[in-house]
Amino acid sequence: MKKKTATVFQLDKIESRKSKISGMGAFVIKPIKARSKIGNMTGELISTREARKRVKQLKVIKMVEFDEHVALDATHSNSLSHINHSCDANCYIRLIHHKVEFYAKRNIKAGEELTADYGETQHEEQLKCRCGAQNCRGWL
Ligand SMILES: [Zn+2]
Repeated sequence: MKKKTATVFQLDKIESRKSKISGMGAFVIKPIKARSKIGNMTGELISTREARKRVKQLKVIKMVEFDEHVALDATHSNSLSHINHSCDANCYIRLIHHKVEFYAKRNIKAGEELTADYGETQHEEQLKCRCGAQNCRGWL
């Protein structure tokens, strides 16, 4: 029987280093094909109530709320948590079964920084977007 290899994650193609957009970024070291799954962002599944409590104490917020009950705290996570927001992103996110999955939106070349459109965020003060895209909305 043939081994399934199509579902293997591509985390080995990503390296974390300083980004021009913000803090750390996730950079591609080997090409990633359009529409392929890059991997899941790991973290700690917690209650949304706990998430909202933690957010108040954190400087860098890496919290994903799935619904009013469950959230993921990705403070201690893998390289996917370093993916910065861009208004012209090359990745997209799927939230499914309390997992945060990242997929390539198009072919991504080695050397490119991975970005995802985080859409509406819950920052109390608006954050200026520094993605540099032509269609940048300006704020997060
Ligand atoms: Zn932007």
